[in-house]
Amino acid sequence: MFIYRLIVTVILFLNISFCECMEKIKMEDNDSKINVIKVPVRDVFETYTNACFYIDEKTKHGFLIDPGAEADKFLSIIKEKGWVIEKILLTHGHFDHTGAVEELHKTLKIPYFIHRNGELFLKSTHYNLSQYCERNVVLNEGKYFDDGDIISLSENPEIKLQVIHTPGHTPDSVVFYDEKNKIAFVGDTIFKMGIGNTGYPGGNAEDLKNSIMNKIFKLPADTVLYTGHSDETTVAEESSRYRYK
Ligand SMILES: [Zn+2]
Repeated sequence: MFIYRLIVTVILFLNISFCECMEKIKMEDNDSKINVIKVPVRDVFETYTNACFYIDEKTKHGFLIDPGAEADKFLSIIKEKGWVIEKILLTHGHFDHTGAVEELHKTLKIPYFIHRNGELFLKSTHYNLSQYCERNVVLNEGKYFDDGDIISLSENPEIKLQVIHTPGHTPDSVVFYDEKNKIAFVGDTIFKMGIGNTGYPGGNAEDLKNSIMNKIFKLPADTVLYTGHSDETTVAEESSRYRYK
């Protein structure tokens, strides 16, 4: 009788252990963790521009958003971490967000993407403002996306960003939104305690207001906003500041 009970106990124990093990593997499979690493860079402009690495911890593949200057800094981080950057994504075409694109595109042999309206900004030093800052940033090999497009990692398609067109600061401005992790890369549309400048070529204050009120502030309140030139903030924090009429 004792032997029989012992055997049953051992079988049950093994069974539970096996189930627990399966559950752990399953959880890890479903638990794709994202790492966002902000890298402030600076060129001729007064303020820093925030570039962001968006990396899948499981595969070490990811995207680089808005590399505005200091290409060497990005290359050494990528090498040190052993990451594979699949694409460069641009929130808009101002040169302080695109200044390192050409070198990274050529060195890493990866494509760069911008909203369809951004072609003018990639190719015109007037629109991208580089001619006013003793720079000559011209990018001829951009690829284009549209509002609503989903940009997924090739290595792990569970990791994806949705394109939300948010014109105003420029007509090509977008937000890259990770719905699952409640992260949004908002470029220069909104900042912590500030909104985007609409005084540059193609800027439009009414469009900016509409983009902020009807697109960014409609995201979940706890969405973290990574901005082009300020600390991170949240939808809740910024929406509490504004009373647009
Ligand atoms: Zn800008």
